[in-house]
Amino acid sequence: MTDKNELLASTGDSSVESEYFSPLPKGYQKGKTKYVVVMGTVMSGLGKGIFSSCLGKLMQDKGLKVAPIKLEGYLNIDSGTLNPFRHGEVFVLDDGMECDMDLGTYERMLGQNLSKNNFATSGQIYRDILEKERHGDYLGRDVQMIPHVTGEVKLRLRTLAMKSNADIVFVEIGGTVGDLENAFYIEAMRELAYEEGPNSCCFVALTYILEPRTLGEQKSKAAQLGIKQLMQSGIQPDIIACRATSPVNEKVRQKISVYSNVPISRVVSLADSASIYQIPAMLRECGMDFEVLKLLHIEDRIDLRKERGEWAKWCDFTDRIGKEKRETTIGIIGKYTSVRDSYASIINALEHSGIALGCKVKIAWIDTSDITDKNVSEYLKDVNGIIVPGGFGVRGAEGKIACIKYARLNNIPFLGICFGFQMAVVEYARNICGLKKANSTEIEPNCGEPVINILPEQKRIEGLGGNMRLGGQDIQIKPDTAAFKLFGNNTTARMRFRHRYEVDPGYIETIEKAGLIFSGKAPNYPIMQILELPEHPYFIATQAHPCLTSRPLHPHPMFTGLVAAAMKSS
Ligand code: GLN
Repeated sequence: MTDKNELLASTGDSSVESEYFSPLPKGYQKGKTKYVVVMGTVMSGLGKGIFSSCLGKLMQDKGLKVAPIKLEGYLNIDSGTLNPFRHGEVFVLDDGMECDMDLGTYERMLGQNLSKNNFATSGQIYRDILEKERHGDYLGRDVQMIPHVTGEVKLRLRTLAMKSNADIVFVEIGGTVGDLENAFYIEAMRELAYEEGPNSCCFVALTYILEPRTLGEQKSKAAQLGIKQLMQSGIQPDIIACRATSPVNEKVRQKISVYSNVPISRVVSLADSASIYQIPAMLRECGMDFEVLKLLHIEDRIDLRKERGEWAKWCDFTDRIGKEKRETTIGIIGKYTSVRDSYASIINALEHSGIALGCKVKIAWIDTSDITDKNVSEYLKDVNGIIVPGGFGVRGAEGKIACIKYARLNNIPFLGICFGFQMAVVEYARNICGLKKANSTEIEPNCGEPVINILPEQKRIEGLGGNMRLGGQDIQIKPDTAAFKLFGNNTTARMRFRHRYEVDPGYIETIEKAGLIFSGKAPNYPIMQILELPEHPYFIATQAHPCLTSRPLHPHPMFTGLVAAAMKSS
């Protein structure tokens, strides 16, 4: 946390009477870092994160340093306790931060590892303020939404600007303009633009153009009202991006331009796209990148040569989308599998690998609730490979075990992720090692053979209390194994973790003697991190979440391995 005196001194006026409370990090230079602020109107779920990350990518390609931040309205401190079936998957960063799935979009689009500095919630902002209040940091003043809460928001952005040394900080405000919980973020942005001075902030309003089927034409009224609400908050948008199912026509764009004082060249149409990876090209085509550079007066900072190279690499990737000559079907075995956002990173990782291999990967969502050893062949008859993803709790566990057993016995390519890894161990222990009562204590706390268990001893060594093991960890890979080959003959790899249970070291020897290989382990503790079965076309699982680090131009090898194996039988 920043030192109080440092902060107050830098405002230029630390007297109790002053209304100019706007702490700056030490050494902060106004004008060095610019800000692009993306807000939503009309409705949420418009893809603010996608828009912001695609624009960020175009800027990064031009040699500019970009840093994204998501400002989330809810009061939770992080996303760790959120239900993925309500909010989308919980994305885990290398430093262990559990955050919104949009951070995954940024990491993939920008090819950057992000940290807790790139994610803020109202809960974190209020927590920091209340801590400062108790600490006496406000010099006897009453603590108010303005200037203290908004000051804290600006401090976060400026701290990120300094730490990342960014040319542009991309600020995404969660929810929509007009939500009570986001109002102080919008106010903070208005203040930021004023304090930073002209040409420092570029405001982007994402809006939605309705096209009711009964009318058969696009209507702009809802968008106009949404933008008006933004302007009532004292923010004049610089760019309006109109989301719609089909391209937004000229007339609608003109209307929006007239109502919002935004030149038509900056009222752009952003129709739905088959793949988000095609959106950077859409933004380039309407000249969005140069509009932003002009607005922020940073045309002189760009490196067009670098951009040519980066763009060529990107187009090599996007040109292959939709032109795949092969097709394969991967079954994702879960519970409530109908909610796709909860598996966003897995879907992305499959797409990355498929594009790299020239193969369209179709996903079959398989709900395990009713799967048993008897009917499993019926459920898996149309898939070429399966993924058993991460999960918590009892529901569907036996169905997952039945699927893993079937894949093992029938040479169906299998990738187990976290809970899927644990269930593979249970399956092997029961059916090959003869430990009939094997289970995870998460599912059956008093089971006879707790092959998957919570190990407080081990947790203490790692200094993590009894909590989740979170974030990036190194993995030591056993030479001459399938994992070793997948990771390019490397003996180390790094993946991200989010789990509480693990293989009980007391069973490792029994399981390995029976033929399963633990090919990846934690370097200093007996924590099993990758398993595999020799003599099977592809039977591999990991305690980590490889999907979190798959990137469009660098698909994760564990996914590429699965798709390649599945292609052999498609
Ligand atoms: N529930 C399991 C655990 O806590 C697996 C977690 C997961 O799949 N992310 O260890």
